[in-house]
Amino acid sequence: MPSAAGSGTPRVGVLSLQGDFACHRAALEALGVEAIRVSLPEHLEGLEAVVMPGGESTAMLRLCESTGLRGPLERFVRERPALGTCAGLILLARGADLLPASTLDVLDVDVARNAYGRQIDSFSEAIVWRDDAEPLDGVFIRAPRITRVGKGVEVVATRSSGEAVGVRAGFTVGLGFHPELTQDLRVHRWFLAEVVGLRVPAPPVRSRLGAGSERS
Ligand code: GLN
Repeated sequence: MPSAAGSGTPRVGVLSLQGDFACHRAALEALGVEAIRVSLPEHLEGLEAVVMPGGESTAMLRLCESTGLRGPLERFVRERPALGTCAGLILLARGADLLPASTLDVLDVDVARNAYGRQIDSFSEAIVWRDDAEPLDGVFIRAPRITRVGKGVEVVATRSSGEAVGVRAGFTVGLGFHPELTQDLRVHRWFLAEVVGLRVPAPPVRSRLGAGSERS
């Protein structure tokens, strides 16, 4: 199992054509992997996995075409792990309404773009992450709604209503929300460790109340 620290540091790509790729890179690097900007086909070489960020799916697909990345990226996500958040989920999904170009179609779900409203309707709420007792802060920004979950696709995150907002099929993960915009690394850690199969450093132990020099 490759280690996420030291020499031979695993390299995970972040599609960096448009959108909030910098936050994903910071989250990945905090977990000890080398986060590689992917904006050309050759950047995919030797990567363990790719992360597709939030942003604007129409612009991303257009840029995928103009950079020649579309074909190589399509092949990559069929063979290697991928995590797509928001616009990234739209790119991975089978069907997406109101999208003028075709998706990469590697995740058997359909999504409705901008289904929670406009930018001004963006919201954050506690969501259920896998079987964690501790809820996750779900940040939704002009998010796509998952309108169909295909057979064999596992739901990994839900709103309190039970609505699916995160899904996984094998090594492909799609989330309607933005874990990279919070300080909580649970989602990235899980993706790297459980989905990609990397050894990632253990989470820091929370300092005990009243311990050390902070005590007054
Ligand atoms: N509404 C955007 C789209 O359709 C996605 C928004 C986001 O990634 N935060 O591509």
